[in-house]
Amino acid sequence: MFIIDYIYVGIDDTDSPDGMCTTYLCMDLIKKLKKEGFVIEGYPRLIRLNPFARYKTRGNGGVSFKFPKEQFEYNDFKKAQNIILDEVSKLSMFDCDNTHPGVVFYEGKITSEMEDFAFKALHSIITIDEAEEFANHIGAEIFKFKKGRGIIGALATISCKLTDCTYELLTYRIPENRGGKRKIDYDSVYLMDEMTDTFENIDGKYIAIEPKTPCPVLYGIRADNPESLLEAKNIVKVYEEIEDYCIFLTNQHTDMHLELAENIKSMRKYGSFIVEGTVVDTPHSIEGGHFFFTLEDSTAKIECGAYEPTKDFRKIVQKLMAGDVIKVYGGIGEEGTFNIEKFKVLDLNNIEYKNPKCPKCGKTLSSAGKNKGFKCKNCSYKLADSSKVPHTLKRDLQLGKFYETPVMARRHLAKPLCRMNLNN
Ligand code: ATP
Repeated sequence: MFIIDYIYVGIDDTDSPDGMCTTYLCMDLIKKLKKEGFVIEGYPRLIRLNPFARYKTRGNGGVSFKFPKEQFEYNDFKKAQNIILDEVSKLSMFDCDNTHPGVVFYEGKITSEMEDFAFKALHSIITIDEAEEFANHIGAEIFKFKKGRGIIGALATISCKLTDCTYELLTYRIPENRGGKRKIDYDSVYLMDEMTDTFENIDGKYIAIEPKTPCPVLYGIRADNPESLLEAKNIVKVYEEIEDYCIFLTNQHTDMHLELAENIKSMRKYGSFIVEGTVVDTPHSIEGGHFFFTLEDSTAKIECGAYEPTKDFRKIVQKLMAGDVIKVYGGIGEEGTFNIEKFKVLDLNNIEYKNPKCPKCGKTLSSAGKNKGFKCKNCSYKLADSSKVPHTLKRDLQLGKFYETPVMARRHLAKPLCRMNLNN
């Protein structure tokens, strides 16, 4: 069998909240490399890593692409490498304290230990030293700018095994327009959403394809296949010049960040999990509009949170009651709370215990004290038995159904229900 060898290039941590985007750098770079006669195979990859990584700018994404190696019998690899490093030097936001670009070159097969490294980058925290040591171990060449933290994401992006994937088409603004209001025809976005097999485009009046930051991206559209993206691009109208566009192969909306937890006790900080448990208390709100409740199993309890940005999802969470059994999908951040991304109702507690009615006057009895039965405040009737009476409740949640956060609050990695082949 004829097997092609590749040289992989991974890049991360070039942007800042004030501008740039590593995907733009990647698109521009690929254009330059192709112009110089270099061959790049397939789509570049945009891989999202651990959502709880401390130094992320926005969505913790790294980029990578691959050169078929045979071309370097006649093409000069050093020249390609210089173009790449030069582009990273020119376009990275070095003034930002938090920007520490990293570039990785790796020649050969993606080994299972590399896949394990990527798994770790999605599920826990990796240090720069650890990444450097791993790069040396696999024989990858690394280039660190400033602290070079980007080598973590660059290595993981090259190494990540994709058992599920989606695609994202990103269009880019010309430099003079960046930072100004984006001129997108919203009606055409609604039409595109209706006419194409794409997802996460809108959320009511919220246009999710439009970034809210001053980055070079004009809009980004996501789908399960590149063809739908090109169809969508033809429908979306804009009233400003598009510098260029690029389609990325991604792990977005695959739930790749989630691990199936054996139980609540086994879950750790900075990890994302799927776990089953019983609701202990009625969800309560705190200042800022965040909602919390406790989930337990036989091993431990954990506080679950539905935060303000999840908007109407909090109204669904409020419908949970003590005794409900749910499967929760989410992640544990710095403060130790399990942030809910979605949940499935496994069992609903539809029995509520109430004080009995007075057999004499029909009013609801009040407790006469612990284990002292009930008394009627209206007619002074006394009941020695302390047992409450079961009532069947009509619940607003549906057994077996999934409930998810809205598009505007959804993580890049979270798999939307529309991708889950559900029947409900
Ligand atoms: P954008 O989405 O705008 O491209 P970003 O959110 O991806 O930005 P970066 O500027 O790339 O943010 O910074 C993320 C940093 O975190 C990078 O340096 C990356 O190498 C590092 N990183 C990624 N995953 C991990 C991890 N699991 N542990 C520690 N550091 C990580």
